[in-house]
Formats: sequence, structure tokens, C-alpha cells
Amino acid sequence: QNDSLKNESNNDIITAYRTRPLLRNELSQNKFEGIFMQDNLTYIYHPIDATLRDLALETHKFENVDFSFNEKHENEFVFQSLVKPLIPFVLNENGLATFIAYGQTGAGKTHTMSSFHEMIPDEIDFRKTLVKVCYFEIFGDDLFDLLNDRKPIFVLSTSTGTAIKGVTQEIVSSAEELKFFVESGTELRKTRATLKNDQSSRSHSVFILSLAAKTRENLKTFQLKKDSVFIEGNSLIIVDLAGSERNSDQTHHDKVRIKETQITNTSLMSLKDCIRNRYLISLLNANSNKHIHMPFRSSKLTQVLREGLDPNSTLKTKTVMIGHLAPSIEDSQHSLNTARYVSNLK
Ligand code: ADP
Ligand code: MG
Repeated sequence: QNDSLKNESNNDIITAYRTRPLLRNELSQNKFEGIFMQDNLTYIYHPIDATLRDLALETHKFENVDFSFNEKHENEFVFQSLVKPLIPFVLNENGLATFIAYGQTGAGKTHTMSSFHEMIPDEIDFRKTLVKVCYFEIFGDDLFDLLNDRKPIFVLSTSTGTAIKGVTQEIVSSAEELKFFVESGTELRKTRATLKNDQSSRSHSVFILSLAAKTRENLKTFQLKKDSVFIEGNSLIIVDLAGSERNSDQTHHDKVRIKETQITNTSLMSLKDCIRNRYLISLLNANSNKHIHMPFRSSKLTQVLREGLDPNSTLKTKTVMIGHLAPSIEDSQHSLNTARYVSNLK
């Protein structure tokens, strides 16, 4: 374990960067790396001359995230550092943990998240634990159930909390079953992606894993809800966000795409504002009467994630945001945007 990676990680908002190796096709095109990580420092080299002919580079230095994972760090190490500690928090402390992957398409979000899906089942003792899952996708302003053939579902903000109306929730009794639900949901997302012009990079996926000790009390309360699932404690929410490159995407001219891009951008911006403002509120002392707005209502994404970010929530919460940085120097503008997005959260 590399202790230098650790840095005030007992906070309730945890930030990280992850880069990946250059892929075979990038190497064959002679792309070269524009990201250098050492301990908790991340350097991004950005060409001054956009034609790349003359490689004059500016150096941007980032140093205020909690964890930096370089191209040599494996999924297992990222999991041990960031996800494993969330499981006892969820199970024993009634916690609501939200784990979010951010970054441009191709930077490695799904690579990270799908490895967590594989490793999480091995961390659960199914003889002693009650387990439920939901899995859905947010595309523009629409939500689709990934455990039920992409049936449309809805998010409702009620006086008693956030409900996902119509979503399928499944009880899971073994690691194999959990893997089955994850894989079939992910497969459904991918199939649609190929049919519908890479829809998966344009949608957010949300996986909710609820865990509780198998006590007599919990056996009564921890049952499947009919009709609506409320976002509650004892849950880990794993979010694979839409590609962040659409922030600057001007290539689409049809109206539907432009609208969709706007919705995605708004959702990513309001997510940033919610996490950032949550952090600012936690710094203010209780006597402060400063009002800080939390823009939960500006997008379906922030409406869904509200319980985990609301400073007025009575739940114990933790939020982890991992910004994925594509290593090629040609992606450096997107990597800079991602690095800034994550480093501005707190
Ligand atoms: P995203 O979900 O952000 O669009 P992906 O996770 O699909 O990106 O990654 C793009 C490609 O890069 C995939 O082929 C993936 O296997 C590969 N990749 C991503 N991260 C890593 C990594 N850390 N090590 C090796 N290959 C990776
Ligand atoms: Mg992906």
C-alpha cells in the first residue's frame, strides 16, 4: 500500500483522479502521454500550438485531490482504496454512500466501475447479509429500468424523500445472483448503445446496492417495496456518468441532439454545484445564516442523488468522485476540464 496516496480520506467528500495506459491503437498512432502523476501531484501537459506540430507545452499542476491513481494502478488497488471502506459504512452505520465516475468517453469510467461490480459481491457475506439491487439509466430527462427491459420509470421528490417510481428491485441471495443482475443490466445498456448510436456514453447509469444485517428486525423491514423504491440509508449508489466531453461538443446540429447535450451538461454542472455547495455548507458554522442554494431540481441526475448530498438529510453520507483522465496529449483539453471539475469540488 502506498501511504502517500492517502490524504484526509476520512472526509465525507472524497475526490480522486485516475489515468490509464495508452491503448494499443493509441500507441500504434504514435500518440504520447500528456499526464504525469507522482504521489498526489498530477501534471497535465497541454499543447500551446493546437496543430501539435510544434510541441510547446504548458504544464498544469493539480494537487488537491485525496487520491491519484496512475496508469500502473490496477482496479483491485482502486477498489481497496475507495470502495471497500464504504461497505462497512453502508452495512453497519446505516450510511448512504455515492460513488461517481466522471470523465470523457474512453477515459476509463466503465473499466473502473465494472471491475467494482465484479469485486463487490466477494466482499459480502450472504449468509449474514440481506441484499437488494436496482439498476437504471438516466438519458436526457428520461429514466429507464435496466433490470426490466428498459421500461420507463420516474423520479419523485416527496416530503418523505426521493422515490424511484416503477423501478424493479430484486432481492439477491448469492454472489452469483448479484453478478447476474449486474451483467444483465449492463448488457442491456450496451445492446441499446450499439443500436442507438452509442447511447451508453450519453446516459448516466445508476446502480443501487442495499445491504443490511440479517436480523429478525431487518427481515421484517428490509422487504421489496411495491411501486416505489425510496433512496435510503444502508445503500451504496454507483454512478457511471455520461461522457463529459459534451461540455464542448458543437458537432451535432439536429435539434434533438442539441437538447440532449444541454440536458447532460446541465446535469453534470448541477451535480458539481450540489457537491461543492454541500462542502461549503459543511465548512460554515451552525450560526451562519448564509443561504447556499442546492440545485437538486435542475436535473434528473441531481434529483435522484439528492438524499446523498442534501445537507439537511438526517442520513450519514459519503460521496466519492473519481475523475478519469485519458492519457493522450491530444485529450489534454478534456483532461484539464475533468481535473478542474473534480479539484473544484472541495
Ligand atoms: P469510458 O467508460 O470512460 O468511456 P472505458 O472504460 O470504456 O471508458 O475505457 C475505454 C477503453 O480503455 C476500454 O477499451 C478499456 O478497456 C480501456 N481501459 C480503460 N481504463 C483502463 C485501465 N486502467 N487499464 C487498461 N485499460 C483500460
Ligand atoms: Mg463507459
